[in-house]
Amino acid sequence: MIVVLKPEISKKDEQAVLKEIKKLGYKPHVMRGVERTVIGCIGDERTHQTLEVLGSWSQVEKVMPIQKRFKLVSREAHKGNSTINVNGTVIGGKKIQIMAGPCSVEDEMQLMTTAHAVKKAGATILRGGAFKPRTSPYEFQGLGLKGLKLLAKARKETGLGVITELLSEQHAELVAEYSDILQIGARNAQNFQLLIAAAKTGKPVLLKRGLSMKIEEWLLAGEYVLSNNNPNLMFCERGIRTFETYTRNTLDLSTVPIIKKESHCPIVIDPSQGAGRSDLVTAMCKGAVAMGADALLIEVHPNPAEAWSDGAQQVTLEGFANLMEELKPFIAAAGRE
Ligand code: PEP
Ligand code: MN
Repeated sequence: MIVVLKPEISKKDEQAVLKEIKKLGYKPHVMRGVERTVIGCIGDERTHQTLEVLGSWSQVEKVMPIQKRFKLVSREAHKGNSTINVNGTVIGGKKIQIMAGPCSVEDEMQLMTTAHAVKKAGATILRGGAFKPRTSPYEFQGLGLKGLKLLAKARKETGLGVITELLSEQHAELVAEYSDILQIGARNAQNFQLLIAAAKTGKPVLLKRGLSMKIEEWLLAGEYVLSNNNPNLMFCERGIRTFETYTRNTLDLSTVPIIKKESHCPIVIDPSQGAGRSDLVTAMCKGAVAMGADALLIEVHPNPAEAWSDGAQQVTLEGFANLMEELKPFIAAAGRE
């Protein structure tokens, strides 16, 4: 921590601040500038008492942290890139993994057709919502357990891993039983009790960025998973709220190099919720691959015009196959497989 003193501070007041810093267990290092004095405080902020209390002292201008607030998700905690092994599908390794499937599981025909098609085109994980977080209570809420059972059936038939959203703490064990990765949606990204419940199932967790979430808040939300003894966390950028209305959300691709710099956890890009428009999905995927994303989460539907949710952003089976072809040179150029 750095403690900045008020310019007019007396020697006596400065001494009082120094005494308090020492009392809190830190070693003060005084640096005198032309206009003001700052005190560097040496000590581990994570194990010592906080110095933030000094911010309310009349002699102190401000107290600034140097240490980052997140620990276990940070690069400092783990030098290499963490990889997550989902039944042989490694996320965070050289191969860019493609998670694809419908926004919502609707019926057996829709899910099986999509699962086989995405597998044929090169996807390794099947996505599909069984519990849907809908803005309106009058919209389709998902098939629930029936949807989970269909996902399990599709996994059995295709060998694809399954990712589905965990919406509520009470369903943690149930959803974990039927899926290989638990998705925590944007609307629940700071539902800390849900994050803890997800972590405790022991399944890998994909944490979406909240609609208006700062990157530091997102990293701290991820900290809830790691600090509850689950090392298998991946972050997923899915666009944030901005003033722009051309797209549903603004897909923030800067998060890819930022998460790579700050964290050892894999980063996934969801261009479907990100753009909200199927015509932009391929271009967004190319950008994500070029930036260094570890995986893509793409919504695919046999007939997007009749989808029960997110119709405008889902690509067709054919569109998905074309996308996968178009992506190949970008994947190679990024040095990935
Ligand atoms: C989804 O993946 O269908 C979804 C609801 O995502 P998000 O939480 O990012 O809106
Ligand atoms: Mn969706």
